[in-house]
Amino acid sequence: MTLLPIPAFNDNYLWLLHDGTHALVVDPGQPQVVQDALLAHGLSLTGIVVTHHHWDHTGGVAELQQHWDCEVYHPRSDPMPFLDAIPPAKRHAVAGGDRVHLLGLSLSVIDVPGHTAGHIAYVGHARPGVGNVLFCGDTLFAAGCGRLFEGTPAQMRDSLNRLGALPADTLVCCAHEYTMANLQFALAVDPKNAALVRYSERAAALRAEGLPTVPTRLSDERAINPFLRVDQADIVRQVMAQFPKTPAQADAIFGALREWKNNF
Ligand code: ZN
Ligand code: FE
Repeated sequence: MTLLPIPAFNDNYLWLLHDGTHALVVDPGQPQVVQDALLAHGLSLTGIVVTHHHWDHTGGVAELQQHWDCEVYHPRSDPMPFLDAIPPAKRHAVAGGDRVHLLGLSLSVIDVPGHTAGHIAYVGHARPGVGNVLFCGDTLFAAGCGRLFEGTPAQMRDSLNRLGALPADTLVCCAHEYTMANLQFALAVDPKNAALVRYSERAAALRAEGLPTVPTRLSDERAINPFLRVDQADIVRQVMAQFPKTPAQADAIFGALREWKNNF
């Protein structure tokens, strides 16, 4: 199995997973970049999986499905803009606890509300060439998390906790290259974190070469991502210094941290 990020728009990644012949693509916001990648690697598309309803994750679904007649898996409770364009037999609404069978893989679906109300993530378990992989859309990012457009801080914290509990070696395949901006914020929040400083140096070196900073490893995110670390005394102290009226309660701290990042 091979895992490839396909850059799209300004800073999106559409993820392609393939076995040398067949491929699945995650969140194809743009059709052409996917077609180009399939052609370049001699692949046919057997499945599309979608994490949430935003256009930069769904804009290419109808065109790709019509071209390849492939299966489409999408969240049950996010409104999907492409739905009418897909034959009913080819579209599958899924939610937490469901499994998606593609490329001989069994992907588990996890509900991760917060960025959107019906946002889901897909987890694939170890295969030769690729270990555990997580396709988490705009929920967990390298050194950050998605904005709360439709959910509460409590929902997002809960969603991130579920993702954070996956195996440590899980590759986090997020949907945007937001890493450097996230790291600037993380360093302001958690300046004494030596692992974070090292991670930032690595990420800066990758960007200097024009390379993606993702996928990132879940063990690294647990060590450096402030949104997975709101139980850490250093982070609580920094949030309280910034927003002194925050109740000393994890969801409130998380909400204040997200608010701080929105205005950073
Ligand atoms: Zn989004
Ligand atoms: Fe997005």
